[in-house]
Amino acid sequence: DITVDSCVENDDALKYEKKAFYVPVKRSQEIQLTRMKLPICDDEQAIMEAISENSVVVICGETGSGKTTQLPQFLYEAGFGNPESDNPGIIGITQPRRVAAMSMSKRVAQELSLDDKRVSYQIRYDATVSSNTVIKFMTDGVLLRELSGDFLLSKYSAIIIDEAHERSLNTDILIGVISRVLRLRKELSEEDKSKIKPLKIIIMSATLRISDFTQNRRLFDIPPPVINVNARQYPVSIHFNKRTPRTDYVTEAFKKICKIHTRLPRGGILVFMTGQNEISILCKKLRNKFPYISSDRTHRNRTVIKEEPPIDEPNEYIHKGYSDRNVDHEIEELAMGENDQDYLDHHDDFDTNSEDSITEFENDVLDNEYAGPLYVLPLYSLLSTRAQMRVFEPPPEGARLCVVATNIAETSLTIPGVTYVVDSGKVKERRYNASSGVQSYVIDWISKASADQRAGRAGRTGPGHCYRLYSSAVFNDQFQQFTVPEIHRTPIEGVILQMKAMNIDTVSNFPFPTPPDRDQLKKAEKLLRYIGALDENNQITSLGRAIATFPLAPRFSKMLIIGQQHECLPYVIAIVSALSVGDPFIKDYHLDGTDSDDGGDEDYLVNNVQTKELNEIQKEIIFKKERRKLMRKKFFDVQKKHSGLDPTSDILKFLNVVGAYEYSGGNEKFCEDNFVRTKAMQEIHKLRGQITKIVQANCQGVDVCVDPKMKPPSAIQLEALRQIIAAGFIDQVAMRKDLVDGMTKTFSSTRGIAYSTMWTNEDVFIHPSSVLYHGKPPDFVVYQELQRTNKVWMKGITIIKPEWLSKLGKSLCVFSKPKELPTPKLKRNDDEMTAYVTPCFGPKSWELPLIKV
Ligand code: ADP
Ligand code: MG
Repeated sequence: DITVDSCVENDDALKYEKKAFYVPVKRSQEIQLTRMKLPICDDEQAIMEAISENSVVVICGETGSGKTTQLPQFLYEAGFGNPESDNPGIIGITQPRRVAAMSMSKRVAQELSLDDKRVSYQIRYDATVSSNTVIKFMTDGVLLRELSGDFLLSKYSAIIIDEAHERSLNTDILIGVISRVLRLRKELSEEDKSKIKPLKIIIMSATLRISDFTQNRRLFDIPPPVINVNARQYPVSIHFNKRTPRTDYVTEAFKKICKIHTRLPRGGILVFMTGQNEISILCKKLRNKFPYISSDRTHRNRTVIKEEPPIDEPNEYIHKGYSDRNVDHEIEELAMGENDQDYLDHHDDFDTNSEDSITEFENDVLDNEYAGPLYVLPLYSLLSTRAQMRVFEPPPEGARLCVVATNIAETSLTIPGVTYVVDSGKVKERRYNASSGVQSYVIDWISKASADQRAGRAGRTGPGHCYRLYSSAVFNDQFQQFTVPEIHRTPIEGVILQMKAMNIDTVSNFPFPTPPDRDQLKKAEKLLRYIGALDENNQITSLGRAIATFPLAPRFSKMLIIGQQHECLPYVIAIVSALSVGDPFIKDYHLDGTDSDDGGDEDYLVNNVQTKELNEIQKEIIFKKERRKLMRKKFFDVQKKHSGLDPTSDILKFLNVVGAYEYSGGNEKFCEDNFVRTKAMQEIHKLRGQITKIVQANCQGVDVCVDPKMKPPSAIQLEALRQIIAAGFIDQVAMRKDLVDGMTKTFSSTRGIAYSTMWTNEDVFIHPSSVLYHGKPPDFVVYQELQRTNKVWMKGITIIKPEWLSKLGKSLCVFSKPKELPTPKLKRNDDEMTAYVTPCFGPKSWELPLIKV
């Protein structure tokens, strides 16, 4: 290998003060040549001048222009990280994704001819950092975590925040925090200044709309300069589908790839899917259809390969599970919720039906057409690094490269040689239902900005084509201009708790790039106070710190924390999973019109109206409805059988159905017979496994049963579970209205019986779908959500005992002397629930009262 000194070629141009501490670099000629072709290298001087004159610089440039790989090198060469220089601290680069942090550090190390001790990475499970590290790639979660230990970030001289346009929650918080760090580093005492030098911040973004950073006075008093890197982008022709396929974009993508591969000239294909499962299906089908001939040494006989191309290293980190890692480290990182993007890949709910429809298509037209081999590679976050790196290598001789990726390939990684992009137009996102507090993962349309980014991937090496698997009408009408920043999509109370755990106390003054609504912030703080995560001064409590270690909604985390008694934890995990996924039962119609969003059988029947007599259809609907009712009843009868108790909770009914499903071996017939949604049950099953791992990692010494088959809970456990549910939903207590008014009536049914709650002045009612609907109206309940139709209905109801409130929700109660008011009473007062109960002090606020059954 011939080595050249990189700076020889452009040394004259270097006006900025880099010469003094300039660090010579040896690069191989090959690397040097590729590097000089990157658009950003033309701007090295302008960028370095801007950085030397400003503390914050924004760099904007198309994906692939060289931002991530080159900027750390510019800084390094200019003396950043050189202990002798004015900027002795190390260079930090943050990424929203683990994959990018790892692969980019490897690439930069290779380009600089340095080892991974000098150019290192740190991600949640893994790190190569050492005392010799000069350039450190990390996820933004890792840096946030470091901030809680060293708020001045004193070991860094420069922080590059990459992929800022993605507007991930962590990136947003990071930018806010760092704007404060910057100020503090400038305001240090003279003595400290001699030790800690000013910090440089570089924000890098792939698309426009950077005004959220640059024009935000709360963030930076002086608007930072923006350097636009002029990327050479070739024209890309956009081809919309004539109509948008209703569901199965995987089959649609398969057809499109087949057409491109059989009919169009050479050039790599990049396909955007939403998750691991779809990617695997599509890859398998494509490999089967267009096997490639291996020139790999491992296949000496030029075998026809229909499998995943081999990789020479074992899988490094994905399938290790949690148990063999450093638990402390884990807890720390989980606290940051670092895994969102990676988790998305894994949380795959794609309907596997498309496997069949692809097969039908396969047997159909394409058999007569000739096509060469296709070198198919998957690309998603949880793939091993080695397998991910294959996308950068040239495909085997004569084969066409086809990478099937999640939106990780949208801006994080640039795959060389792509001429064709096939865009499903879909992305998996975390959503949050503000009223129920329940999060879900949904597949939805991407934004117009994302669609353009994806199309742009086809124009890196020459003119390209982008095939959009949706119509232009859908694009125009249903695609938003930009992706909504994650902070506006996630439950804000989780974010606030995370920030409080990082000792950022006054969240309302925090310089978010796009701040959440002030009322939302207040409401979230209130909720956190109610569940005991914050004290009355909005300071984080020890319970709050424990809650913050779980990447789940705070109330669910609380349930997991207090669920570690009476061997309830596996049940609580099942409950939390079921609540996160949502009601698995196929809904009933109610004559009072409370539930109108049924799908399923009714749709099917109505759509087949021509083939059946109408009254027969109606009969069938009624018959099915009756059967459904019976089947749903079965699940509280199960509870009664085991505990001898009448139904006390809708949530415990979920637990029963989860238990029964696992005993059935998780089969579809069970779901069909019992009118539960198969997909929901599969989701719950998966989520249980994931939450079990999180609990194992977070709670040292807790032995959680990992067998999905649980014994039915005992009577004591059922009571404990109700207390745990009550603790989780302690702010959502409802009291029968006649009790609030001080008169006690007797009732024969729950119909029309009004309840009072603390979040609304309106009367609320027990929803007809509740197991409690047909019994006697209980005095006190907690509810999971309120739903408004013609009335406000409570759903997901659990009967509680008023004496629990004093222990589980002490901050929500006002205490009076026992003899004044011997019976517990709840009263609405200033939007807060006031409970007159006998005071009772547990040793720790979240400890469960001992239950006497
Ligand atoms: P940007 O951050 O502006 O999107 P990058 O710095 O990530 O651009 O990429 C610059 C170039 O380096 C791209 O052409 C990309 O394909 C190439 N590249 C990045 N990582 C590797 C790697 N591991 N092996 C080979 N080429 C790489
Ligand atoms: Mg980049």
